Amino acid sequence: MINGSCLCGTVAYQVSGVGDSMYYCHCRMCRKASGSSFATNMLMKESDLVIISGENFIKGFNSSPGETRYFCSECGSPLYGKAQARKGMVSLRCGGLDEAPHLEPQIHLFTDWKAPWYRIADSLKQIPDLKLPIKSPTDSGSD
Ligand SMILES: [Zn+2]
Ligand SMILES: [Zn+2]
Repeated sequence: MINGSCLCGTVAYQVSGVGDSMYYCHCRMCRKASGSSFATNMLMKESDLVIISGENFIKGFNSSPGETRYFCSECGSPLYGKAQARKGMVSLRCGGLDEAPHLEPQIHLFTDWKAPWYRIADSLKQIPDLKLPIKSPTDSGSD
């Protein structure tokens, strides 16, 4: 069990299981939503994410057709995303984790949209466009 929370602590959650994949997402939406150069996301089973406090403070923003990004309405911290194309899965924003997850990031995703000031200096695989090499039979190509 790994603990996580938003910046203000209103929303707290626990993650069980190991997750499917972890990746750096450079897509335009993750950049905007995180206010940073990229987001670090973990695709995992929705049932492995348990909200232990602050559920009423979680708001969703429909960022693209079929995709909703959830955040703490008190402090604005991004929490996770859900896509209709990946039912039963969530894309957890790993910056909220208070402990190390069982995975490490395996790829840089959507590097076509990478922030111009950020230079990738590791040897992880870079995926420039919409083809996700992550487990998802009906992938829509969003993050
Ligand atoms: Zn908060
Ligand atoms: Zn993204």
